[in-house]
Amino acid sequence: MSKIEKERQTAASASSASSSVRGASGSAASSDSASAGRVPVERETNVQQSNEREVNEKGSNKREDARIVRIEDPQTETATKRDRSELDRLWEAIGRSAPRVKLRVFSAGSCTHPEWVTIRGGSLRSVRIPALFACIEHPQAGPILFDTGYSDRFFRETDPFPDRLYRMVTPVRFEAGQSAAERLRASGIPPESIRQIVVSHFHADHVAGLHDFPQAEFLYEREALESMRRLRGIRAVKRGFLPGLLPGDFDRRARPFAPESRIEVPEALLPRFPFRRVTDVLGDGSLLAVDLPGHAYGQIGLLLRTERGPALLCADAAWSAAAYRENRPPSALAGIIMPDRRAYADSFRALRELHEAFPELTILASHCPEAERLYAAEGAPL
Ligand SMILES: [Zn+2]
Repeated sequence: MSKIEKERQTAASASSASSSVRGASGSAASSDSASAGRVPVERETNVQQSNEREVNEKGSNKREDARIVRIEDPQTETATKRDRSELDRLWEAIGRSAPRVKLRVFSAGSCTHPEWVTIRGGSLRSVRIPALFACIEHPQAGPILFDTGYSDRFFRETDPFPDRLYRMVTPVRFEAGQSAAERLRASGIPPESIRQIVVSHFHADHVAGLHDFPQAEFLYEREALESMRRLRGIRAVKRGFLPGLLPGDFDRRARPFAPESRIEVPEALLPRFPFRRVTDVLGDGSLLAVDLPGHAYGQIGLLLRTERGPALLCADAAWSAAAYRENRPPSALAGIIMPDRRAYADSFRALRELHEAFPELTILASHCPEAERLYAAEGAPL
């Protein structure tokens, strides 16, 4: 039996063990709340019992005994990952099949900004900021994108004023062959095979490639788009929204998250998990959206598991791993494009808390040069 199969079996028996604990004690989570997507977890004592059971099944009486696997990163760093994450409790409590997925990261163009704008304490020099996107390979649903980066469509849309202002303020570098569709094709993934694209938020550098995926449906938080569509002309440009980047039949293919896909996460389940709700994007528990508003209204990140452990695609809640690791948010000037700086600060803090509480979680920011260096294209597997 492979390690993963064994792990899955353990997870399945742990989850059935916890439901029998609930049955015996009379569930504190009512059937009403269960049908509304509340994770069926009750008093902390029961959670602890369930954990003990889990640990005992692994033949140990200490949680710290979880085996540690060391993997070598291709560069200078050495990452440490546990083959079992405390975050797995979340998936076990949700109790759906939650298959592990494969994750690949690509870049689709870049822009430049003075470093001090992007990170506190940064230098005056101009730095290259990649626009990353991810391809999630789901065992049943096939390849799914998380955002798209830039495409040549961006230049067409920013030729006339006032949209040209976007290009003037944010110098973009993009060459033929760098679009999401072309990157995927070069990696053996035909763009027509993409049936779903999860959109973190509707800034131009995340949606410029949507036109190139005519078969795809678009999954996103409703507020992320509605807040942008209320803006017109220069007000839209100031918020980073170029309506012409949305395909003409966008509304026909739009699949905003449904209210029934919300799952409440009780604090007792994972006290150090900073989100009190997740959204089950596909309905099988594999992709869990978390709310990271502030940089844009309705921005989401995507929490998932690969065979190497959990990962969070955090979009623009931080612009680099250094930012959340070293508590260096972007400058106040970067706040100009943000509709809600207070919410941004909360989302940024949530990333820092996640990083500290769950060091085995790989957090990937959409514009992180380190993530591009380590993981983009044929970098380290995720
Ligand atoms: Zn953005």
